[in-house]
Amino acid sequence: MQPLVEMAKREYTRHEFRMLSYRSVLETYYPKGRSILAPLRVTYIFAGPRETVLHALIMKNYGCTHALIGRDHAGIGDYYDKYASHTIFDQFKPEELGIDIRLFHEVFYCTRCDTQATEQSCPHDEQYRINISGTGIREMLRHGIMPPKEIVRPESARIAIQGVQPKGLDEFENAISPVGKTIKSIFPFYLNRTRLGGPKRTNPLTVEELTNRDLEAVNLDVRANANKIYQDIFDEYTSVGDTNRNLQPEWVMDARETLHHQQQMVVEDLKEKVKQAPKSASDEFMYQDKEEAEKELNVATKILGDIPKVLRADDFDYRTWNVLPYKRYRGSDEE
Ligand SMILES: [Zn+2]
Repeated sequence: MQPLVEMAKREYTRHEFRMLSYRSVLETYYPKGRSILAPLRVTYIFAGPRETVLHALIMKNYGCTHALIGRDHAGIGDYYDKYASHTIFDQFKPEELGIDIRLFHEVFYCTRCDTQATEQSCPHDEQYRINISGTGIREMLRHGIMPPKEIVRPESARIAIQGVQPKGLDEFENAISPVGKTIKSIFPFYLNRTRLGGPKRTNPLTVEELTNRDLEAVNLDVRANANKIYQDIFDEYTSVGDTNRNLQPEWVMDARETLHHQQQMVVEDLKEKVKQAPKSASDEFMYQDKEEAEKELNVATKILGDIPKVLRADDFDYRTWNVLPYKRYRGSDEE
């Protein structure tokens, strides 16, 4: 692994801390003997696509087999086209370069896919996304917040947060880029939705009105729920799919059973009420006529139908309809 580590701006994380971050991630997540860290210190010249080619060639000379090129590599502001550092490689044949170029579009973490993804690999929209924005992550560190585990390994962030300079915030408690921009760059859903994967806001928020409290709130939401979305979906599927019911939580079945029992009680009571109700009520505040009592009964009966089924082992016997001695499945024709 050959990360570019030179400091280009004072706002960056200092390179010794970046190196220590890389080392602790390598130690924890990469197999020994199959990974080596050789940082590349080159002075940034912000030459965009041309500098991208230069970096690829330097990496090749170091013995690297692949170069990972992100969006706007070696760019500055919006001077170059976002993907100019990608399209320049159309001009070269692989054998001319001698290194395998891998181009990365914007990468994000999709909590519905439960993995890192790009527009090319994931069909879900912004409501489930945590964006991977280098600037956003750096500014969050400056606010003293460890970024979501979905986009930065804690082994990396804990060390990097010590190397952010200047440490702390200005007199308005803001980092270098305003807190609203930081929130939008990592948590794009927050402006339009009340929570990760949640319902749309009646009035979308604007970048200008966001405060540090919003940054805290969105981080708490993501910490609590980012890994819950796919889990919830998995739970729904297993609740119907598991033929072996020992794997299903007994307390959920108990709760469903109680729900059925209680709603049955409501229905029985209302049936009795319908039976006794007069055709027309003498006092509409105190009593109900038959028609109204029947409406109540209908609603209660529908609610009973809405309660999820209790599915225990006995209810699943019908699914094992193809019982044969096992050797028959393996091809033997003998009973
Ligand atoms: Zn997705």
